[in-house]
Amino acid sequence: TMTALTACGSERDGDTGSDSAAPEKGFAQNSLIGVALPAKTSENWVLAGDLFTKGLKDAGFQADVQYAGASTTVADQQAQITAMVTKGAKVIVIGATDAAQLSTQVAQAKESGAVVVAYDRLITNTKDVDYYIAFDNFKVGELQGQALLDGMKEKKPNGPWTIELFSGSPDDNNSKVFFDGAMSVLQPAIDKGDVVVGSKQTDIKQTATQGWKAENAQSRMDSLLTSAYSGDKKVDGVLSPNDTLARAIITSVKGAGKPIPVVTGQDSEVESVKSIMKGEQYSTINKDTRKLVAETLTMVKSLQAGQEPTVNDTDSYDNGEKVVPSYLLPPVIVTKENAAEAYANDPTLAPLTK
Ligand code: BGC
Repeated sequence: TMTALTACGSERDGDTGSDSAAPEKGFAQNSLIGVALPAKTSENWVLAGDLFTKGLKDAGFQADVQYAGASTTVADQQAQITAMVTKGAKVIVIGATDAAQLSTQVAQAKESGAVVVAYDRLITNTKDVDYYIAFDNFKVGELQGQALLDGMKEKKPNGPWTIELFSGSPDDNNSKVFFDGAMSVLQPAIDKGDVVVGSKQTDIKQTATQGWKAENAQSRMDSLLTSAYSGDKKVDGVLSPNDTLARAIITSVKGAGKPIPVVTGQDSEVESVKSIMKGEQYSTINKDTRKLVAETLTMVKSLQAGQEPTVNDTDSYDNGEKVVPSYLLPPVIVTKENAAEAYANDPTLAPLTK
């Protein structure tokens, strides 16, 4: 059991570490663990913070869980991580607000002997990130792209179908991975002429939604409708990278008095699950935050015990400086059809599907 393994610095028999890049040898069980989360841009971050606070305390650790502020997110998060290092955190779990702006802080963390775990979002351009834990982001994008095609075919059996593309915030490494995953499914249909991007905006620079902010997606959709869908022109589908943006896109389309297109999403947010059940938003993705936090806590406990944490992917996430050993969980696509089944074990969402 782990209770015997609370001393610092001793070698472990069970250490399976196969290379020299694993200097960690455990730490005291009541150590401080830092969790630096981005701004609360979607419900998953709110839930994650609550679960980390509770889960770390239940496991006997001291927890320091912080969110980057709503506006000065980068500087906030940098200061929070530095403070965690100063307080002697043994592991710092980071949901990066800006993937590329944390190299100084994670270098400080490594220098102090802390282990750095990138949570949900990769940290880029630094060697000082030890592990990455997330849902398979490319798969999320593939599922979104496929749902978009399926949903449009259900509504309108014969193409061509007209779509618009949205992606997430450019400072979040996930945004490109989601988009690439979706385009791996959509591009062949676009190339064949089955699917047409009405505005012709297909470059990720054009489709981006700064800060993952609903108002930015809504105003971009407003202007797309004005510029590319005058008169009775209709858009059949919209690739939306998450639920918050999906609802903003639907609000825009309704405001313009157009029929609601097939709109994808992600995160299984309460309002989007309701929207799916009433037949407005078409799909979302279930990335069960409870599982992701639980797996992260398992990782922290392994590190505490001086063991090498389990990873299941060692070639997908190159952050520009190294391929970060990753533990990836499988995302699940959810439409009205499988919602009851998908959320059967979720006390908040299950009642909405009845
Ligand atoms: C997460 C998504 C979330 C988005 C905005 C991404 O990094 O993976 O689940 O919707 O950030 O908060």
